[in-house]
Amino acid sequence: MTDFITRFAPSPTGPLHLGHAYSAMLCHDMARTAQGRFLLRMEDTDLQRSKPEWDALIREDLTWLGLHWDAPVLRQSEQISSYDLYLDQLAEHDLLYPCSCSRADIRAALSAPQEGHPHEVYPGTCKARPISDRNQGDALRLHLDRALVMLADDLPSFQETGGTHKGTHQIDPDQAQEQIGDVVLTRKGERMIAYFLASAIDDATQGITHVIRGEDLFDFTAIQVILLTLLNLSVPTYHHHRLIRDENGKRLAKRDDARAISTYRNDGRTPSDIRRMVGL
Ligand code: GLU
Repeated sequence: MTDFITRFAPSPTGPLHLGHAYSAMLCHDMARTAQGRFLLRMEDTDLQRSKPEWDALIREDLTWLGLHWDAPVLRQSEQISSYDLYLDQLAEHDLLYPCSCSRADIRAALSAPQEGHPHEVYPGTCKARPISDRNQGDALRLHLDRALVMLADDLPSFQETGGTHKGTHQIDPDQAQEQIGDVVLTRKGERMIAYFLASAIDDATQGITHVIRGEDLFDFTAIQVILLTLLNLSVPTYHHHRLIRDENGKRLAKRDDARAISTYRNDGRTPSDIRRMVGL
Protein backbone atom coordinates (compact mmCIF):
# COMPACT_ATOMS: atom_id res chain seq x y z
CA MET A 1 0.00 0.00 0.00
CA THR A 2 1.25 3.47 -0.86
CA ASP A 3 1.94 5.73 2.10
CA PHE A 4 1.09 9.01 0.37
CA ILE A 5 -2.56 9.63 -0.40
CA THR A 6 -3.81 13.12 -1.02
CA ARG A 7 -6.95 14.72 -2.37
CA PHE A 8 -8.32 17.81 -4.06
CA ALA A 9 -11.66 18.64 -2.41
CA PRO A 10 -13.48 21.46 -4.22
CA SER A 11 -17.01 22.56 -3.42
CA PRO A 12 -18.94 22.51 -6.73
CA THR A 13 -20.44 25.96 -6.19
CA GLY A 14 -18.68 27.78 -9.01
CA PRO A 15 -15.98 27.49 -11.66
CA LEU A 16 -12.36 26.60 -10.84
CA HIS A 17 -10.10 29.64 -10.94
CA LEU A 18 -6.32 29.94 -10.99
CA GLY A 19 -6.10 29.43 -7.22
CA HIS A 20 -7.94 26.11 -7.39
CA ALA A 21 -5.90 25.03 -10.39
CA TYR A 22 -2.71 25.75 -8.45
CA SER A 23 -3.97 23.74 -5.48
CA ALA A 24 -5.06 20.79 -7.62
CA MET A 25 -1.85 20.74 -9.68
CA LEU A 26 0.37 20.99 -6.60
CA CYS A 27 -1.57 18.17 -4.96
CA HIS A 28 -1.33 16.02 -8.08
CA ASP A 29 2.39 16.79 -8.56
CA MET A 30 3.17 15.93 -4.93
CA ALA A 31 1.26 12.65 -5.20
CA ARG A 32 3.02 11.70 -8.42
CA THR A 33 6.46 12.62 -7.05
CA ALA A 34 5.81 10.47 -3.98
CA GLN A 35 4.40 7.69 -6.21
CA GLY A 36 1.26 8.04 -4.16
CA ARG A 37 -2.40 8.48 -4.98
CA PHE A 38 -4.41 11.55 -5.89
CA LEU A 39 -8.15 11.54 -5.12
CA LEU A 40 -10.96 13.90 -6.06
CA ARG A 41 -13.70 14.64 -3.55
CA MET A 42 -16.67 16.89 -4.20
CA GLU A 43 -17.61 18.72 -1.00
CA ASP A 44 -21.20 19.30 -2.02
CA THR A 45 -22.96 19.43 1.33
CA ASP A 46 -24.28 22.91 0.60
CA LEU A 47 -27.28 21.69 -1.36
CA GLN A 48 -28.41 25.16 -2.31
CA ARG A 49 -25.16 26.29 -3.89
CA SER A 50 -23.73 22.99 -5.20
CA LYS A 51 -24.73 22.24 -8.79
CA PRO A 52 -24.10 19.21 -11.03
CA GLU A 53 -23.03 21.66 -13.78
CA TRP A 54 -20.16 22.94 -11.62
CA ASP A 55 -19.21 19.39 -10.68
CA ALA A 56 -18.99 18.50 -14.39
CA LEU A 57 -17.07 21.64 -15.30
CA ILE A 58 -14.56 21.07 -12.48
CA ARG A 59 -13.87 17.54 -13.71
CA GLU A 60 -13.55 18.81 -17.28
CA ASP A 61 -11.08 21.54 -16.22
CA LEU A 62 -8.99 19.12 -14.14
CA THR A 63 -8.82 16.65 -17.01
CA TRP A 64 -7.84 19.45 -19.39
CA LEU A 65 -5.07 20.41 -16.94
CA GLY A 66 -3.78 16.84 -17.27
CA LEU A 67 -4.81 15.63 -13.82
CA HIS A 68 -6.10 12.10 -13.22
CA TRP A 69 -7.67 10.83 -10.04
CA ASP A 70 -6.95 7.32 -8.87
CA ALA A 71 -10.42 6.32 -7.63
CA PRO A 72 -14.02 7.23 -8.45
CA VAL A 73 -15.02 10.72 -7.28
CA LEU A 74 -16.43 10.75 -3.76
CA ARG A 75 -19.45 13.04 -3.36
CA GLN A 76 -20.36 13.94 0.18
CA SER A 77 -24.03 14.40 -0.72
CA GLU A 78 -24.20 10.73 -1.73
CA GLN A 79 -23.15 9.43 1.66
CA ILE A 80 -24.86 11.75 4.10
CA SER A 81 -26.11 8.97 6.39
CA SER A 82 -22.55 7.70 6.85
CA TYR A 83 -21.79 10.76 9.01
CA ASP A 84 -24.57 9.94 11.50
CA LEU A 85 -22.41 7.34 13.19
CA TYR A 86 -19.82 9.98 14.03
CA LEU A 87 -22.42 12.50 15.17
CA ASP A 88 -23.88 9.79 17.43
CA GLN A 89 -20.44 9.18 18.94
CA LEU A 90 -20.07 12.87 19.76
CA ALA A 91 -23.61 12.97 21.17
CA GLU A 92 -22.89 9.95 23.39
CA HIS A 93 -20.06 11.89 24.98
CA ASP A 94 -22.37 14.86 25.51
CA LEU A 95 -20.33 16.98 23.11
CA LEU A 96 -23.20 18.36 21.00
CA TYR A 97 -25.90 20.87 21.76
CA PRO A 98 -28.78 22.26 19.68
CA CYS A 99 -28.67 25.87 18.56
CA SER A 100 -31.45 27.98 17.12
CA CYS A 101 -29.49 31.24 16.70
CA SER A 102 -29.60 33.01 13.38
CA ARG A 103 -26.55 34.80 12.01
CA ALA A 104 -28.11 38.08 13.11
CA ASP A 105 -28.58 36.75 16.69
CA ILE A 106 -24.94 35.75 16.82
CA ARG A 107 -23.71 39.10 15.52
CA ALA A 108 -25.86 40.94 18.04
CA ALA A 109 -24.54 38.82 20.94
CA LEU A 110 -20.90 39.29 20.03
CA SER A 111 -19.43 42.11 22.04
CA ALA A 112 -16.39 42.76 19.88
CA PRO A 113 -15.77 42.32 16.18
CA GLN A 114 -13.80 39.16 15.47
CA GLU A 115 -11.48 40.76 12.99
CA GLY A 116 -8.75 38.56 11.58
CA HIS A 117 -10.52 35.39 12.66
CA PRO A 118 -11.72 32.97 10.00
CA HIS A 119 -15.27 33.06 11.31
CA GLU A 120 -17.35 34.55 14.08
CA VAL A 121 -16.77 32.74 17.34
CA TYR A 122 -20.14 31.65 18.69
CA PRO A 123 -21.01 33.52 21.90
CA GLY A 124 -22.56 30.43 23.52
CA THR A 125 -26.19 31.56 23.73
CA CYS A 126 -27.62 28.02 23.43
CA LYS A 127 -24.80 26.23 25.21
CA ALA A 128 -26.86 25.07 28.20
CA ARG A 129 -29.47 23.33 26.04
CA PRO A 130 -29.44 19.52 26.22
CA ILE A 131 -29.51 17.58 22.98
CA SER A 132 -32.93 16.16 23.94
CA ASP A 133 -34.23 19.71 23.48
CA ARG A 134 -33.39 19.72 19.77
CA ASN A 135 -36.05 21.03 17.43
CA GLN A 136 -36.19 20.22 13.76
CA GLY A 137 -34.81 23.56 12.69
CA ASP A 138 -31.87 23.59 15.11
CA ALA A 139 -28.21 23.33 14.19
CA LEU A 140 -25.92 21.14 16.29
CA ARG A 141 -22.79 22.69 17.75
CA LEU A 142 -19.69 21.17 19.27
CA HIS A 143 -19.40 21.85 23.02
CA LEU A 144 -15.75 22.82 22.79
CA ASP A 145 -15.16 23.28 26.54
CA ARG A 146 -16.22 19.71 27.23
CA ALA A 147 -14.23 18.44 24.25
CA LEU A 148 -11.09 20.14 25.51
CA VAL A 149 -11.59 18.74 29.02
CA MET A 150 -11.86 15.25 27.51
CA LEU A 151 -8.60 15.75 25.63
CA ALA A 152 -6.77 17.61 28.39
CA ASP A 153 -4.49 14.74 29.42
CA ASP A 154 -3.23 14.16 25.92
CA LEU A 155 -3.70 17.25 23.77
CA PRO A 156 -3.46 16.34 20.09
CA SER A 157 -0.91 17.79 17.70
CA PHE A 158 -0.40 17.81 13.95
CA GLN A 159 2.46 18.12 11.51
CA GLU A 160 2.49 20.95 9.00
CA THR A 161 4.87 20.76 6.05
CA GLY A 162 3.82 23.96 4.21
CA GLY A 163 6.08 27.00 4.20
CA THR A 164 4.48 29.57 6.51
CA HIS A 165 3.49 27.31 9.40
CA LYS A 166 5.99 24.48 8.97
CA GLY A 167 6.51 22.35 12.09
CA THR A 168 4.61 20.55 14.83
CA HIS A 169 1.54 22.29 16.21
CA GLN A 170 0.07 21.23 19.51
CA ILE A 171 -3.55 22.22 20.08
CA ASP A 172 -3.69 25.18 22.42
CA PRO A 173 -7.02 25.08 24.35
CA ASP A 174 -7.11 28.83 24.99
CA GLN A 175 -6.43 29.63 21.37
CA ALA A 176 -9.05 27.11 20.26
CA GLN A 177 -11.63 28.76 22.52
CA GLU A 178 -10.74 32.27 21.40
CA GLN A 179 -10.42 31.64 17.67
CA ILE A 180 -12.72 28.74 16.92
CA GLY A 181 -15.32 28.23 19.64
CA ASP A 182 -18.39 26.03 19.34
CA VAL A 183 -18.54 25.36 15.62
CA VAL A 184 -21.67 24.18 13.83
CA LEU A 185 -21.46 20.50 12.92
CA THR A 186 -24.86 20.13 11.31
CA ARG A 187 -26.55 23.13 9.86
CA LYS A 188 -29.76 24.79 10.87
CA GLY A 189 -32.92 23.59 9.19
CA GLU A 190 -31.15 20.79 7.33
CA ARG A 191 -29.93 17.36 8.17
CA MET A 192 -26.78 18.37 6.39
CA ILE A 193 -23.39 17.99 8.01
CA ALA A 194 -21.15 21.04 7.92
CA TYR A 195 -17.77 21.39 6.25
CA PHE A 196 -15.48 21.02 9.30
CA LEU A 197 -16.74 17.62 10.25
CA ALA A 198 -17.53 16.08 6.85
CA SER A 199 -14.14 17.03 5.45
CA ALA A 200 -12.21 15.74 8.48
CA ILE A 201 -14.14 12.44 8.54
CA ASP A 202 -13.63 11.89 4.83
CA ASP A 203 -9.92 12.59 5.10
CA ALA A 204 -9.72 9.83 7.67
CA THR A 205 -12.03 7.32 5.98
CA GLN A 206 -10.41 7.82 2.58
CA GLY A 207 -7.02 7.15 4.19
CA ILE A 208 -5.67 10.59 3.28
CA THR A 209 -2.13 10.84 4.62
CA HIS A 210 -1.45 14.38 3.37
CA VAL A 211 -4.01 17.18 3.21
CA ILE A 212 -2.74 19.77 0.73
CA ARG A 213 -4.84 22.94 0.58
CA GLY A 214 -4.71 26.75 0.66
CA GLU A 215 -3.35 28.56 3.68
CA ASP A 216 -6.71 30.29 4.16
CA LEU A 217 -7.83 26.97 5.69
CA PHE A 218 -4.93 26.70 8.14
CA ASP A 219 -6.94 28.14 11.02
CA PHE A 220 -9.56 25.41 10.66
CA THR A 221 -6.99 22.66 11.08
CA ALA A 222 -7.03 22.77 14.89
CA ILE A 223 -10.76 22.10 15.04
CA GLN A 224 -10.48 19.28 12.52
CA VAL A 225 -7.66 17.71 14.53
CA ILE A 226 -9.76 18.02 17.70
CA LEU A 227 -12.73 16.33 15.97
CA LEU A 228 -10.60 13.53 14.52
CA THR A 229 -9.05 12.84 17.92
CA LEU A 230 -12.45 12.81 19.66
CA LEU A 231 -13.63 10.29 17.07
CA ASN A 232 -10.50 8.13 17.33
CA LEU A 233 -9.71 8.75 13.68
CA SER A 234 -6.20 9.25 12.35
CA VAL A 235 -4.84 12.76 11.89
CA PRO A 236 -3.15 13.38 8.51
CA THR A 237 -0.13 15.56 7.84
CA TYR A 238 -1.14 19.01 6.57
CA HIS A 239 0.44 21.16 3.90
CA HIS A 240 -1.06 24.64 3.51
CA HIS A 241 0.19 26.35 0.39
CA ARG A 242 0.39 29.99 -0.65
CA LEU A 243 -2.67 31.57 -2.23
CA ILE A 244 -2.89 32.92 -5.74
CA ARG A 245 -3.78 36.58 -5.54
CA ASP A 246 -4.91 39.18 -8.04
CA GLU A 247 -2.85 42.24 -8.94
CA ASN A 248 -4.17 44.04 -5.83
CA GLY A 249 -3.10 41.21 -3.54
CA LYS A 250 -6.66 40.00 -3.04
CA ARG A 251 -7.29 36.26 -2.85
CA LEU A 252 -9.16 34.96 -5.90
CA ALA A 253 -12.77 33.98 -5.30
CA LYS A 254 -15.26 31.86 -7.22
CA ARG A 255 -16.93 34.97 -8.56
CA ASP A 256 -13.69 36.00 -10.32
CA ASP A 257 -15.03 34.65 -13.56
CA ALA A 258 -12.34 36.40 -15.57
CA ARG A 259 -9.82 34.06 -14.02
CA ALA A 260 -11.90 30.92 -14.43
CA ILE A 261 -9.91 28.06 -15.94
CA SER A 262 -12.67 27.52 -18.50
CA THR A 263 -12.25 31.13 -19.66
CA TYR A 264 -8.51 30.63 -20.21
CA ARG A 265 -9.29 27.35 -21.90
CA ASN A 266 -11.79 28.98 -24.29
CA ASP A 267 -9.30 31.77 -24.98
CA GLY A 268 -6.85 29.21 -26.36
CA ARG A 269 -4.44 29.11 -23.42
CA THR A 270 -2.73 25.79 -22.69
CA PRO A 271 -2.25 23.86 -19.43
CA SER A 272 1.44 24.90 -19.56
CA ASP A 273 0.33 28.56 -19.67
CA ILE A 274 -1.72 27.96 -16.52
CA ARG A 275 1.24 26.29 -14.79
CA ARG A 276 3.41 29.28 -15.66
CA MET A 277 0.79 31.78 -14.46
CA VAL A 278 0.63 30.18 -11.01
CA GLY A 279 4.38 29.71 -10.74
CA LEU A 280 4.59 25.94 -11.06
N1 GLU B 1 -14.13 22.25 0.06
C1 GLU B 1 -13.21 23.25 0.55
C2 GLU B 1 -13.17 24.41 -0.43
O1 GLU B 1 -13.52 24.26 -1.58
C3 GLU B 1 -11.80 22.72 0.70
C4 GLU B 1 -11.66 21.84 1.86
C5 GLU B 1 -10.28 21.29 2.12
O2 GLU B 1 -9.44 21.24 1.20
O3 GLU B 1 -10.07 20.86 3.23
O4 GLU B 1 -12.77 25.48 -0.02
